[in-house]
Amino acid sequence: MTVSTLDWGTTYRVTVLDLGLACCGVEVMAALEGHRPEQLAALGVDPVHAAGEAHVLVVSGTVTDAMLPAVIATYQEMPEPRYVLSVGACSNTGGPYWDSYSVTKGVDQVLPVHVAVPGCPPRPEALLDGLAALHRLIS
Ligand code: SF4
Repeated sequence: MTVSTLDWGTTYRVTVLDLGLACCGVEVMAALEGHRPEQLAALGVDPVHAAGEAHVLVVSGTVTDAMLPAVIATYQEMPEPRYVLSVGACSNTGGPYWDSYSVTKGVDQVLPVHVAVPGCPPRPEALLDGLAALHRLIS
């Protein structure tokens, strides 16, 4: 069952979509797809694979200018209220590719980022910390 972010404060469940674009996406997959199910359950995180079901978008990896329209379209497809968690140096600032002609220098230039998780790459536990921070922010 899909539970709205509005329920997060009472039932502690939220639907999360991972938009993995490069190496950081592997760490997010490790966190969301089974390595720590008990921690996910404790955080009330419910991974989903469709933008129309997600209230939290996790952007992980290098956001290239070519991919940017797809990132924006994914966000726009999400129902309100919607939140963005940026994971890793690339998504936060462009990371090691900050001076590349083809890389967006931070997804926050086009989407409202609520929490940014640092690292190259962050460990899966850092994603869980980021989700907990987002939970506190919304609460
Ligand atoms: S921040 Fe580092 S690990 Fe993450 S996508 Fe960029 S280069 Fe890869």
